[in-house]
Amino acid sequence: MGKVYLVGAGPGAPDLLTLRAAHTLERADIVFHDALVHPEVLALAARARIVSVGKRCSRISTDQRFINRNLVEAAQRHEVVVRLKGGDPMLFGRAQEEIDALTASGIEYEVVPGVTAALGASAQLGVSLTRRGVSRSVVFATPRVGKDQGEDERSGWAHAVAAADTAVLYMSRGEAPQLVAALRAAGLAADHPAAIVESASLPQARQLRCTLEQLPAQAAQTSGGPALVILGKVLAGSAAASAPSTADTSWDSAASATASAL
Ligand code: SAH
Repeated sequence: MGKVYLVGAGPGAPDLLTLRAAHTLERADIVFHDALVHPEVLALAARARIVSVGKRCSRISTDQRFINRNLVEAAQRHEVVVRLKGGDPMLFGRAQEEIDALTASGIEYEVVPGVTAALGASAQLGVSLTRRGVSRSVVFATPRVGKDQGEDERSGWAHAVAAADTAVLYMSRGEAPQLVAALRAAGLAADHPAAIVESASLPQARQLRCTLEQLPAQAAQTSGGPALVILGKVLAGSAAASAPSTADTSWDSAASATASAL
């Protein structure tokens, strides 16, 4: 019986992979990977069979139960099975369902952490998520809920976000209008500082500062890469922020972001 490694691939740039992740991929017999994993990362698994179980919201994705069953069956046939997930495997990646399925079948597993997208985005913006006197708490949240979840789970996230000094919202771009309504109802001001970071850590990265109420209009202008929304006063306080007005909000490419950071 083999072992299953739940490995974090990082936010996008292949060189943000951990050494442990790279070494595990080199030993892999079979790799089941998400849609957002960089080809250079997959190339490290030189001797492995590569299976895409890609999940991107609103596109065709592999059923989670099917993935769980595949992992169990692969461990019965191979020594080193890798389940490669974007960012960190333990955040918004349904890792627990996979771990539970492996445990129920008596299969050994190990988690190899990765750089989560929130930290890739923080680096991209050059904005610390915590800051003395401004932010002592950070919440990672998503407004997205499973179809089988109740009303409490549909609104509870907004209260958690409103209570945090800084919030990073995963899988949120597609629901920006509802997101703003829920956060306004939870007590955030219309001019609460916000940012959208798209494809953090990749050459095509883009970022934009705006206010909470400007989010839906700005989200509509993203170009389809994975994107995060960040909320909090840390965004208003940084020198580079120069809180844009409605008229002059504009997207920064990675190149100009680098230039302004120099
Ligand atoms: N386990 C992953 C998150 C999976 S959920 C992690 O730890 O990062 C997928 C969501 O992550 C996307 O919808 C998007 O909100 C965010 N995301 C992933 N990669 C990103 C990137 N490079 N830039 C911005 N957001 C990203």
